[in-house]
Amino acid sequence: MLRKLPLTIKVLLLTAIVSIFVWVLSDAVQTATLSEVFRAKLSERLSRQAENQRIMFDRYVKGHHTAVKMFVSTFDIRNYVSSDSWKKKNYLEVYYRPPSWLPRLSVMRNFIQPRYLMLLDENNQVREIYQANENRVPRVLLEPDSMLLTLSHDQGFLTKINGEPYLIASENVRDTNGETKATLMLASPLDEQFLIASQGSALSDANIIALLAEQEPEILVSSNQSLIPEGYHLADLSEHYLTIGQGFFDYGATDISIELVSFVSTNEIKSLTREVIKEEREIRAMTALSFIVSFVLVIFLVTRRLQKFTNYVVNFSRHLKQDKFANDISGDEITILENNFNRLAMAVESETAALEHQALHDPLTDLPNRKLLNNRLQQEILRCSRSKKPLVLIMTDLNHFKEINDTLGHHVGDLVLQQAALRLFRTFRKTDSVARLGGDEFGILLPETSLSQAEKLCRKAIEAFEIPFVIEGNNLSLGISMGLVESPAHGDDVNILVQRADIAMYIAKRTNSGFSVYDPEKDTHSVGRLALMTEFREAIERQSLDILYQPKIDFRTNEIVGAEALLRWEHPTRGVIMPDEFIPLAEQTGLIKPLTSWVLDKAVQQCMDWKHIWPDFNMSINLSVQNLLDVALLEQVRQLISSDKMHASCLTMEITESDIMTDPMRAREILESLSMMGIRLSIDDFGTGYSSLSYIKQLPVEEIKIDKSFVMEMVSDENDAVIVKATIELAHNLGLDIVAEGVKDRETWDYLKSLNCDIGQGFFISKPLTAEEFTNRGIRNSWPEYLTAS
Ligand code: C2E
Ligand code: CA
Ligand code: CA
Repeated sequence: MLRKLPLTIKVLLLTAIVSIFVWVLSDAVQTATLSEVFRAKLSERLSRQAENQRIMFDRYVKGHHTAVKMFVSTFDIRNYVSSDSWKKKNYLEVYYRPPSWLPRLSVMRNFIQPRYLMLLDENNQVREIYQANENRVPRVLLEPDSMLLTLSHDQGFLTKINGEPYLIASENVRDTNGETKATLMLASPLDEQFLIASQGSALSDANIIALLAEQEPEILVSSNQSLIPEGYHLADLSEHYLTIGQGFFDYGATDISIELVSFVSTNEIKSLTREVIKEEREIRAMTALSFIVSFVLVIFLVTRRLQKFTNYVVNFSRHLKQDKFANDISGDEITILENNFNRLAMAVESETAALEHQALHDPLTDLPNRKLLNNRLQQEILRCSRSKKPLVLIMTDLNHFKEINDTLGHHVGDLVLQQAALRLFRTFRKTDSVARLGGDEFGILLPETSLSQAEKLCRKAIEAFEIPFVIEGNNLSLGISMGLVESPAHGDDVNILVQRADIAMYIAKRTNSGFSVYDPEKDTHSVGRLALMTEFREAIERQSLDILYQPKIDFRTNEIVGAEALLRWEHPTRGVIMPDEFIPLAEQTGLIKPLTSWVLDKAVQQCMDWKHIWPDFNMSINLSVQNLLDVALLEQVRQLISSDKMHASCLTMEITESDIMTDPMRAREILESLSMMGIRLSIDDFGTGYSSLSYIKQLPVEEIKIDKSFVMEMVSDENDAVIVKATIELAHNLGLDIVAEGVKDRETWDYLKSLNCDIGQGFFISKPLTAEEFTNRGIRNSWPEYLTAS
């Protein structure tokens, strides 16, 4: 229940509980310490007050003698005693109002309130008395002995009269001549009235002063007799009064010793304490309240942000859609956050594993990718160097995969790749790693394997690829080219091994041999490649390339109908380099355009020469894919024709079907322009790509060159024969001429002739020849006897 409350409420509740607890606790402690402190302060203050009270009492006592001294110095009293008439009264004159010899009462009051003032004659007999009330005057005062007068002369004297403390002060009164004529004696009981008068009006019910007989805890008299009557013991009072400042005072002459004590009502102290504590508590409450309010505000803001963050995390983890981790949104924000963090952590964990897999595998085939293969290769190189056993790395590439992709679409391409991956995977052993490196490239790592073992597996792979791939009703045959390197024989560095296996693979592809082992002598790709490129560039500039011409013979007439111009590069040190090696170079560097342009010029020139011998002579030149997209070529052809350097009918341009498929739209445009100018167009290497004859028919093509790979083996391989036969028939149906290249022997020639092939080209007739050789042999018609004989 409590778990499910929102965090804000929880925090508020907690804050309330904690602050109440802290408040109660601190209040108790505070009150205790405060009362302590306050009590200490109070007692200090009270004792100061008590001291003041003693000083005031003291001064008051002394004030009586001062007053007496002042009285006797007034003219009124001196005149009065000078006359002697006052002594004639034979009774005691009692005044209840101040007599004429006294100063006005109001003036007197500034000092003291005399209770009894007695005027004594020279014989110390009291003749007149002034008393402030009508009490009976104690006898001792009416008949003072000389001792009392001496002790009280010129000072205040404290004594007990009838058990009551009294203050007596007397002074001689001189007449106007300065002779002592009388004595003025003042007597005041130290009673309630005296005590009150001594303090002015400073006393209250809560503050009482009292006189104590010395060393006796009994009250002699207090300033408030009704509250603290005489006879009380200090102990009796302790419950209601705090006794402070108990002590003697400077009372001059005395025959009694008394102490003055101040009392403060404990109730008064309590109420004072309470008031102060209340005031303090109010301040504290205000402080605490403002603190709590700001704390709650802060908590509120914090939980608000926390709430936002929680929502964010919840949404985020929801977004992850990890259904196996239930989305838990019960409990407060922290609990939700905790749960969702756990979810996220689990999701991230599983995601990380997936990502790791993803990072090291190819998504299409789920085979390891290049990175993983390289890692494993690195490990295996180390392991094999320890175990002194070789390892083999194979790079493979599918033949003509690009055309499948281009003509049948990426979807079919993907399916082909998946099936190809499966075939490779099944061909190789569990210990081998088959990886997809991208496109139609696969890499296979064979640990602890010799080259001869690897070659066996390669043959198995070739066999596996002989079975056509059936994809969405299409039967697609797809060859495979493999390049092999062995470590440590061919290197012990990952990059070098991969690079060399690639080179071997290119050679396998070029030679159509299925697989090939790396041969450093054939490595045009490595160090020498860069130099070769520079040299090739120079060769073009210096026009030090040669063109050889391979004759084309008509099957029906056995006569020359033309030739194919084929490039050779006479390298100063490496000897003759074949076009398969440098044409890719030229294509990569863009040099293919000037090169083709040069071939075109030369070959056309040669053709025009040979037209003098063979009027229908036709020259075939080869175009690369880049030429197909080159308008400059069109322009050159146009100029050749317009300048009369060439008859349009003397030129055939050979284009491979895969080159056309690279950009069919643009290729078609150029082909159409060329065709419009009267140039014959021929599809080279037909049968190796995937374009259908019906597609070809849409192009302005007049000739098809069936690829030599079918022709060369057609006598021995029935499959090839079937393909050649079908191609010839279909081409004829479409009105196309068919040229067979790679006619290597008589059997092939005869077979093709029986199949109604139109034109033949091949080593059986002649290898490519220099122009001179060509002319000589052509004129002498020195082609194979078999042909000339028939
Ligand atoms: P291609 O167009 O298929 O040329 C025919 C190739 O087959 C030539 O190889 C030729 O010598 C070879 N050949 C002809 N009859 C036989 C035979 O009976 N047996 C065998 N084994 N081979 C035969 P070559 O001259 O090495 O040319 C290779 C390729 O280089 C050509 O293949 C062509 O694609 C390319 N090429 C040559 N010259 C040029 C050029 O000037 N421009 C362009 N773009 N490519 C060229
Ligand atoms: Ca050709
Ligand atoms: Ca060809």
